[in-house]
Order: sequence, then structure tokens, then C-alpha cells
Amino acid sequence: MPADLPSIELTENSAAILTRRYLRRGDEGKPIETIDEMFWRVAYHIAKVEESYQQDVIEQARSFYRLMASRCFFPNSPTFTGAGTPLGQLAACFVLPIADDMGRESTGIFQTLRDAALIQQTGGGNGFSFSRLRPSGAMVKSSAGKATGPVGFLRVYDHAFGEVAQGGSRRGANMAVLRVDHPDVEEFVTCKTVEGAISNFNISVGITDAFMRAVQNDEEWELRFPDVLHPAYRNFHGTLEEAEKVGLPLRTYSRVSARELFQKIVQQSHHNGEPGMLFLDAANRQNPVPHLYTLEATNPCGEQWLGPYENCCLGSINLNQHILEDGSPDWEKIRESTITATRFLDDVVDANAYVPAVPQLREAALRARRIGLGIMGLADLMYASGIRYGSPEGQEFAAQVIEFIRYHSMLESIRLAEARGAFPAIQGSIYDPANLTWQPPQPLQPYQNDWGRPEIDWDAVTQGILRHGIRNAAQATIAPTGTIATVAGCEGYGCEPVFALAYIRHVNDNGRDLQLTYASPAFEKALVNAGIDAETRQEIFNQVMQEGTCQHVEKLPEAIRNTFVVSADITAEEHVRMQAAMQAFVDNSLSKTINFPAGATVEEVATAYMLAWELGCKGITVYVTGSREQVVLETHSTA
Ligand code: ADP
Repeated sequence: MPADLPSIELTENSAAILTRRYLRRGDEGKPIETIDEMFWRVAYHIAKVEESYQQDVIEQARSFYRLMASRCFFPNSPTFTGAGTPLGQLAACFVLPIADDMGRESTGIFQTLRDAALIQQTGGGNGFSFSRLRPSGAMVKSSAGKATGPVGFLRVYDHAFGEVAQGGSRRGANMAVLRVDHPDVEEFVTCKTVEGAISNFNISVGITDAFMRAVQNDEEWELRFPDVLHPAYRNFHGTLEEAEKVGLPLRTYSRVSARELFQKIVQQSHHNGEPGMLFLDAANRQNPVPHLYTLEATNPCGEQWLGPYENCCLGSINLNQHILEDGSPDWEKIRESTITATRFLDDVVDANAYVPAVPQLREAALRARRIGLGIMGLADLMYASGIRYGSPEGQEFAAQVIEFIRYHSMLESIRLAEARGAFPAIQGSIYDPANLTWQPPQPLQPYQNDWGRPEIDWDAVTQGILRHGIRNAAQATIAPTGTIATVAGCEGYGCEPVFALAYIRHVNDNGRDLQLTYASPAFEKALVNAGIDAETRQEIFNQVMQEGTCQHVEKLPEAIRNTFVVSADITAEEHVRMQAAMQAFVDNSLSKTINFPAGATVEEVATAYMLAWELGCKGITVYVTGSREQVVLETHSTA
């Protein structure tokens, strides 16, 4: 590693997490690299692929190192553990197809289980649609028996994954999707009712627009599946829509009230946060490669829609490190970070070793060259800028930031296409220069505020694509950043608001219960700036410690109380509107939880679901405070 490169500055807690999760270890379990050496390993390994584009590897590695060591950008965890190590697998998100057969096809139930187990070992999270599996009780011709059905096989997968240690340290997280018109959907909706059941999966119902309209109009809803006894079924592995297209008859298993089914889903989520909803039509309206596949599933946390065998490496710009002295966004620095980060992620597509035993993964990745650039620390930037998360102003602010990043990421992807070629499957895609159907994204509401953002000219993007194509079929995703935001020292994860301004954290220190207190540095700074003396600050923090929020602290100046909201201070409607405002500029999706206070009603949850669909969100996850003891993913990692 070159001696003149700067060291990264980390808090004690961040350094401890990084050391535990990312440093390479020798035979005795001791780290064999320093933290700076770890960043150089990643930077160098990713930059190495630039050799094949006749670029100076060391110079590029230095630029990647600086980007990460300044905590301006981090890739997802698997890139830290996999780059330049024998593991070599760099992506966090995968989707695998499951065909309705035991293993005759390469996408059969047990073939895919095997592929998924291999991916899980490398630290990747898998998503699956179980919608193509015939309903339970349907005839199985070969054995003249009755089918297990999607939920039965979901349990089989869950047991298997529970036994496969994942990436050394992470517990497995997976996503199971079942369409809302599948005959077994009601069984699916309640399959996690017992706390602890199917604990290696998040579950989501794949919702269609037709279903939401049926709910609105209080209509009957058919649960259907292709006729499995029809001779054409044996070689059919398509979706319900494709069955209709090829003339394979559908059998209606039952008719239910759309409203009652919707109510069942909502009740269940109200009860324990699951199932979530994934809006299939919203996702497919923006599918960049409709000539290759229909989107049916996402990765475990729902932010990344992918086709069969596709995977995506995510990376997040740390907005906390892009704040000017006066608290406003450092737009120029955001632009620079976006450009380097886009190039970094495009290099990851080449540098990734994938999982050699599943060759379809590399093939699918190279075909579309998806990248998923997002953010962390949005809440930090909003605290600094004095903008309330959730307010109409806050919605617009978030939209302006994401639009800016997406715009510069697309411009860089076009420059990369010019230098290295467009993604191979561009012909027939929405970015096909011969038939460009992609439209520049638009804000949900016309902008009304000026935060000094430099001008954006979407026409330049259109012209660029027409001339050079684009390097990456998809560019933007907002990840949960459960681990990387902690390492980077963000107060707000991904695009989420801050969870609590102050709290007591219990840490198990060799059997002793250690109590550590946490206090928001941004809040502390705001109090100091407002001229509040040390004694009063302590009083304020003591009160905040009890409640997590500062909304009841009377001593606070109004402006501070207005800005320093936490998740629980924001209404569900505001949460949904924030999500939708950002979704408008994110071509994949984003990880966001709609938080409800304890005591929220089922009707309130139903209203949020309906609003999310109406505003064009691609999915929704809710959490009613106190309703669930365990969650599949830790959102706040601690040392
Ligand atoms: P990180 O901060 O570690 O990079 P995120 O919290 O942003 O990760 O999660 C991004 C994605 O990584 C998730 O949507 C999921 O696909 C995958 N992932 C995260 N945690 C796990 C886990 N424990 N097991 C499997 N996959 C995971």
C-alpha cells in the first residue's frame, strides 16, 4: 500500500465492528491486515480490472481508496470481505428462479436450493418467487400424488438455510414472494404467524394492479394456476401471464373477496410486520430489460428487483461526509463521489468472482451490468440543513438529492459506455438507442425550494444514451446499510430517519452487562450552536434518554425541535410520502420501513398500503412498534 495515502478515521465502536466483520484473519483467527490495508486491498482489487480497459490501475486504486477512506462511499459488506480474498464474491443481492419440478430442470426446486446454499455461504442474500410452484394438493402426474405446494417448500428451504452458516458471520436472510392470485396465498400470508417460524425468510406478497383495483371496487378475486394436467404444462415454466399468452388454460381454484384478502394481509403485517407487499406492475413498468424477463422477486430487504440468476453489488454515498460548514449539502463533492462510485461499482461487475459452481450468475451479471448506487446518512444531512424529515419540504429535499445522484451516475455510466461499450443486452431494452423508450424521471410534485443545487439537464442524458448507449442497465438502489452505516458513523441508516437521539445500549462484555450511553452528535452540536449551556444540555439529554425523542422537551428552541425528529415522530403518511418522493428517482427500489406507533389500527396500516401503491412505490414494509420481538435482519449493529 502506498505510504502517502491518508488513514481512515473511525470511532472506537466503528473500528470494532469493522475489525470483527471485514478484516482478513489468519489460521489462529487473528487479523492479518490493518484497517487501512483492508481498504487498500478492496481499492486495489477492484481497480485491477481497469487493466483490461488500458487504465492506470494504481492511479485508479488510489482514487477508490481515497473515496472509501474519507468515508464518502462504502460498497456493501460482501465487497469488503470478498475483494482480493479467496472468497471473491462481492454482491449482497441475488434472485434465483424456481421452476415447478423437483430437479429435472436446472431451475428445479432442489437444484435452486443447492445454488442458493452456495451463494449463502459467500455472504449473499437470496430472493425467490415461489409463485410458479403448483398449489398444495394439485395432482403430481409422475407419482400420482398430491403436491406439497409453495409454503411446504418454503419450509424446506428455511430448514436448509438454517443449517448453512452464511459468509462466516451473518445469519442467513432470504426473501420469499408469492403472487396474490396464487391459490395458496392465504396459507402463505399466515405462515409466519408463530413467532420464530420460517425465521430465515422475509415474506412478501406479489401484488398486481388488478388486485388493488379489485380491492378499491370491492370485487371478487380469483385464485388461479395453469392447468397442471394439460399436456403443454410439462414443459411450461412461465408466469401466469405467459400461460395465457401460449394458450395454456388456467384453472380457477377459488374465488375470494379482494377486500377480505387485502384485510388478511394487512392484519398480518399489523400483527408482526409481515408479509410486506411488492408491487409487481410498478416494478415491471420500469424493468430496464423487459425483453429478457419479467421481474418477480427482490433480494431479502426488498430494495433490489432482479431477474433470474441476477445479482447486484450495492454501494452507498455517505451524505454525512458531504456537508458544508454552514450545514448545507456539498453538491460538488456529492457529484465527485457519485462519479467515482459509479465507476467503482461498474468495475465490481468485472472483478466479482461470483460463485463459480453456479455459472449462470456471472452470465446474468455481465449481460445487464446492473449496479445499485444509493445513499446513507440522509437524516444526518437533513439535521445539518435544518430540514424536517417527512415534511413536504423534507420530501422535496430528499428528491432533489437523489435526483442529483441519479443524474450524475447516469452521465458517468454513459461515459463508461463510450469508453468500454454499453451493457451487452442493450438491444431491445428501454435504453436501446435504436428505440429509446426510457423517459427522464420526474418529481412527484413540482419543486418549490432552492438549496443551491447545480442545474440538471436530463436532455443531456437522453442525447448521451442515443449516442453511446449506457454501461449499466440499472443504476440506483437505496440499501438498508445495516452494517456499513455503522462503520461509516452515520446517524441515519440508508434513507431512513434517525431511530433515537439518545439511548442506553447494553453490551455483553465477557458475561458482564455493560451499559453504554449514546447521544446524537448532531443534536449535541445544534444545542451548542444555539448557545445552550452545558448544564441545560445535560438536562435535555437526560429527558431525551427516557423517550428517544426531543419532541416533549419544552426548553428546546422551536427550530431544533422541528428539525430533530426521529422515526417515531414522523407519521405513517409522511413516511410513505418520503419513500415515494425518493422512489421517483430510483430505478430499482429502496429499503424503507413505515413505522407506526404502538396502538395503530389495522385501518391505518391499510391506508398506508393503499397510498404506497397509489404513489408508485414498488413495495412497502410496515412495523407497528412493539408488535414483533425478533426481526430477521439487525438494523442497528452493535459491537
Ligand atoms: P451492509 O450494510 O452489510 O452492506 P445492508 O444492510 O445494506 O448491508 O443490506 C443490503 C443487502 O444485503 C440486503 O438487502 C440483503 O440482500 C443483503 N444482506 C444483508 N444482511 C444479510 C444477511 N444477514 N444475510 C443475507 N443477506 C444479507
